[in-house]
Amino acid sequence: METVIQLTYLLSAILFVVGLKRLQSPATARKGNSLAALAMLLAIIATVLETQILDWTWILVGIALGGMIGGAAARSVEMTAMPELVGIFNAFGGGASALVAIAEFLATPGIGASTTGVTILLGTLIGSVTFSGSFIAFAKLQGLMTGNPITFPFQNAFNALLFIAAISLGAVTLGVFGSGDPQTLFYVFCTFALILGVLLVIPIGGADMPVVISLLNSYSGLAASAAGFVIGNTVLIISGALVGASGLILTQLMCKGMNRSLANVAFGGFGGSAGVDRSEIGQRPVQSADAEGVAAELGYVNSVVVVPGYGLAVAQSQHELRKVGDLLEERGVDVKYAIHPVAGRMPGHMNVLLAEADVSYDKLYDLDEINDDFGNTDAVLVVGANDVVNPAARDPQSVITGMPILDVDRARRVIVMKRSLSPGFAGIDNDLFYMDNTLMFFGDAKESMAELVREVRELA
Ligand code: NDP
Repeated sequence: METVIQLTYLLSAILFVVGLKRLQSPATARKGNSLAALAMLLAIIATVLETQILDWTWILVGIALGGMIGGAAARSVEMTAMPELVGIFNAFGGGASALVAIAEFLATPGIGASTTGVTILLGTLIGSVTFSGSFIAFAKLQGLMTGNPITFPFQNAFNALLFIAAISLGAVTLGVFGSGDPQTLFYVFCTFALILGVLLVIPIGGADMPVVISLLNSYSGLAASAAGFVIGNTVLIISGALVGASGLILTQLMCKGMNRSLANVAFGGFGGSAGVDRSEIGQRPVQSADAEGVAAELGYVNSVVVVPGYGLAVAQSQHELRKVGDLLEERGVDVKYAIHPVAGRMPGHMNVLLAEADVSYDKLYDLDEINDDFGNTDAVLVVGANDVVNPAARDPQSVITGMPILDVDRARRVIVMKRSLSPGFAGIDNDLFYMDNTLMFFGDAKESMAELVREVRELA
């Protein structure tokens, strides 16, 4: 039986790796997800068999409750609220790992400075930081608290001190030095870890939340891996390490996409619009066009690049957008889609929407692949995007300075489809709207796009 269980764990680990590998391309991602889900099922079955459950009540209650909440959340949550959902999942993942470690500590008091003792403390620390930090990230994204960085003097030094204090407390708990009641010390250690999670996330601005969510996702994996060491479960160690590593890689990719270092995201207090004078936003004159005018701008040129953003997701106008793209192609226009790494509200958000509308993957171009082409592009159609095309990122004084943007302002004609001159996620004005080569196409992206479909059809 032991051999069968270990082989099942091995198979499950292999399936996790293959599943992750398949997530690399939108074409194979669904298969990858199913494989990883199968791996999880095998891991659960093997674990349940290995532990020879005496009483199934809690297991069944857990499965029923978890299944109901997960199923309802997956069905009801809006695509635009996905980062919040991932944030909550990270919180629960981290919290669960911390609870496993805490339970193990309470079951073995006076564990001392053993390997298990150290992993219990690591699991508790990382899990608790992930738990409280993820809730703050959720509250920031959900608008339950300000999205602006919350900073105070000597914040980084204070956080560093708190971290050192937590580690020292942990060492005393394990009896490495000093003395005291291990249980009381452990509870103080847990409290410090929870406070640390809050303090690490509050100085990070709303616009950096995608990076934070991804980093917390990585932490939740590390916490799970530590929990795996604590209870001696191989597949939990492996799957936790995979989540930890892939979360870290995604975090790095996102930092690269924003041209920032992880340290700058974590300690920079960047990403909010605090201190920005909002009274000036949207006050300058713009040129605008209706659907008929926009159809004429797009229908008689050689090349059009579409830049989707958060507004496309809100309006759910991806299907109409594809129809416009198809109609333009039928007219001989070369149509491409430019995808910014942080467009929308989660990594890969735009890819998912466009895939849903059956836009062919080979028409999707990443920022690096397409940015040099904008100078030779006849027209750009910006659909509900704002920050990712804001030339302010080139201004050293701007709050979004250094964030790589799609250089759409270099195209011969830019058409921006949105409802008003309101700012995007970063809360700042966008010079693009006021440029000579820009036409604003005001309205809800779904309705405007439907009108555009009709007008492009009517072109001669
Ligand atoms: P933005 O948030 O900058 O702008 C979106 C624009 O969409 C708004 O200005 C809004 O203007 C418009 N809009 C909203 N609803 C509609 C609608 N129904 N029809 C038409 N337009 C609409 O989006 P971007 O995609 O350009 O940038 C993403 C931002 O989100 C970045 O700052 C990024 O850092 C941040 N972020 C990204 C995450 C990710 O992982 N991708 C996660 C969390 C944050 P108006 O109200 O005038 O219509």
